[in-house]
Amino acid sequence: CGIVGYVGGQCALDVVLAGLRRLEYRGYDSAGVAVLADGGLASAKKAGKLANLEKELSDRPLPSGPTGIGHTRWATHGGPTDANAHPHLDNAGRVAVVHNGIIENFAELRAELAERGHALGSETDTEVVAHLLAESFSSCGDLAESMRQVCRRLEGAFTLVAVHADEPDVVVGARRNSPLVVGVGDGEAFLASDVAAFIAHTREAIELGQDQVVEARRDGVTVTDFDGAPADVRAYHVDWDA
Ligand code: GLU
Repeated sequence: CGIVGYVGGQCALDVVLAGLRRLEYRGYDSAGVAVLADGGLASAKKAGKLANLEKELSDRPLPSGPTGIGHTRWATHGGPTDANAHPHLDNAGRVAVVHNGIIENFAELRAELAERGHALGSETDTEVVAHLLAESFSSCGDLAESMRQVCRRLEGAFTLVAVHADEPDVVVGARRNSPLVVGVGDGEAFLASDVAAFIAHTREAIELGQDQVVEARRDGVTVTDFDGAPADVRAYHVDWDA
């Protein structure tokens, strides 16, 4: 439902939580975050309101780091439980992904992953993406390229935002039939389902086109289509008051 990703000089967790609060009006049934810190990935997720996630984070704080993602979920596949909340991780806990929309062919992808020895721990359509990203990353070592490879296999509607512990200064996003906007700040970048999530930080935005992948770093963003060809970027200035 609501998606926020951040890479930059601020505490990613604070930026992501503030962004999720700005998206709360859309309604949701669970919330979660993941941050990259100290060479690893740490995450927390809870059914219920953001306050439940914040309570969890005060009981079990996450390390502070410059890269993170967050999600408020409106369940479509699998009930609103802690396990089904996003982010979803691969079995090694190195990649985390959040998703808006519906992956129509998730059942066949789940079966394929199970055959290759992956253990899936949720009932969501989303979790397959984390496992597929991890597999691709282990052969190509590049999260944006992994996202392109995985998106070519997905059917349905999706906004996806992902991080990988082996690329701690990158947040990657992709979209089909579901919105994704990029906020370009000074030494920082934001990915979100809605500009409201980052308007307090920057008003320079890029609207991702259909079937495009964005790789965001502190010093800029790169946009391609699902085959890796450079895409025309639609940059604009957000001038409404938020
Ligand atoms: N289909 C996904 C799920 O049920 C994403 C739902 C959403 O858009 O929040 O987990």
